[in-house]
Amino acid sequence: MHNSTFRVEHILIFALYFALLFSLWLTFNDIIKKLRQQAKSYRPRKWKPRSPKDCPGCKSGINLAVLKPKQDVIPYSQRKSSRGRSKLLATQGHACPNPLCDYFGVINHLLHAIVGDGKRGIHKHIQYWKCQWCDKRFSSRLHTPLYRLKTGDGHIVLVLMLLAEGCNISVLVRCSGHCEATITRWLERMGKHSSLLHNRFFHHLLLPLVQMDELYCRVRRTGKMWLWLAIDPVTKILPSLHLGKRKNDDAMALTHDLKLRLHPNSIPAFTTDGLRGYFYAITAHFGHWFRPKRARFDHWHVSDDLLYGQLLKQRKSRNSPFSIMRMLWGNRKDLNDILKLHGFAQLIQTAFIERVNLTIRRGVAPLMRKTWSLAQHPEHLLLHIEWWRTYYHFIRTHESLAVPIPGLRKHRQRSPALAANLTTKLWSVQDVLKLPLMPAPS
Ligand SMILES: [Zn+2]
Ligand SMILES: [Zn+2]
Repeated sequence: MHNSTFRVEHILIFALYFALLFSLWLTFNDIIKKLRQQAKSYRPRKWKPRSPKDCPGCKSGINLAVLKPKQDVIPYSQRKSSRGRSKLLATQGHACPNPLCDYFGVINHLLHAIVGDGKRGIHKHIQYWKCQWCDKRFSSRLHTPLYRLKTGDGHIVLVLMLLAEGCNISVLVRCSGHCEATITRWLERMGKHSSLLHNRFFHHLLLPLVQMDELYCRVRRTGKMWLWLAIDPVTKILPSLHLGKRKNDDAMALTHDLKLRLHPNSIPAFTTDGLRGYFYAITAHFGHWFRPKRARFDHWHVSDDLLYGQLLKQRKSRNSPFSIMRMLWGNRKDLNDILKLHGFAQLIQTAFIERVNLTIRRGVAPLMRKTWSLAQHPEHLLLHIEWWRTYYHFIRTHESLAVPIPGLRKHRQRSPALAANLTTKLWSVQDVLKLPLMPAPS
């Protein structure tokens, strides 16, 4: 009897003891977890910088596909006789498509040998050109998305504009009366054309700041994918983008493309989220090779001018935002000085790229959240995004880039390309459609 009471008492004491421990664990568990995470985040990282040998783009020598016309060509006006009627039509931007001609790819109207060769087409609305040096005759629509299209320009302009404003292809099929294959073909052509236009304008850039981020999207054939973007917060241009997975090689591909578009002496101050791939990609592209004394191989030295900060976002719940700023390369004070110089708050942040993520989701229908109009192939999605980017850079005005007109209570609206001094005017969709861009030989 005595023994059994003793056992029951013991069991009760143990039960109480465990209940107490359990309640204490429940109370302090969250606090301990948060402190542990904080300690982990602040712990100095031991990430090793990478070199161009780790970048697939650098290893395979990927370069910008830009057509390089023949150098030191004699102006045709010096070769021809001074007699004859002077040129009446503006031929700037057009070039002889004959690879054997001396003036192949030369777009400067003061150099090339192009003159008008009459108008053709059902309504005699298509201008034809003739190269006087090689006698080649060609349409002014050659190397534009309009080449050999029978539909009127107005229809195509409207459909393309709506596609860059976030309109779904199936809506356009119902409203315009054109079938889906036709609209997709126009979009594909415009996407390829936009990519060439981007290569022509976006090189030798001098950017003080760059923010990079990746956004989630879905493609019908391949499932989930990531769109990688880089933005210059000052002029709002998007020099580089990449569609792929969320691996180190994708971060390398984005940074490799950005590096190709920058001036050789330009090293921007970078800000990204906490993804490790960015650190590897940035350190692999901004530096130089050197050979230490008595060493047999070259070593990669990451540039001393490089500044790179990360914003870590660790969100426990919807109501508790929790972020940490940390410098991974360079001095925080130097980064603050650059931010101050351009009128930004002295914070390591990715707000501008997050904002453009929203703009691109509203502008490209297959990128909208919970949408049914997914792209079929990654290539289709990429071409759609390329067209949207050209529309965003050259045609659409950006509200935050407007500058006040002195003496008037008005503002001059600017596009990102205008703010970055890449062009001198606001473009229309017609301007992009009618600009001939010769693809670079592969
Ligand atoms: Zn590279
Ligand atoms: Zn020619």
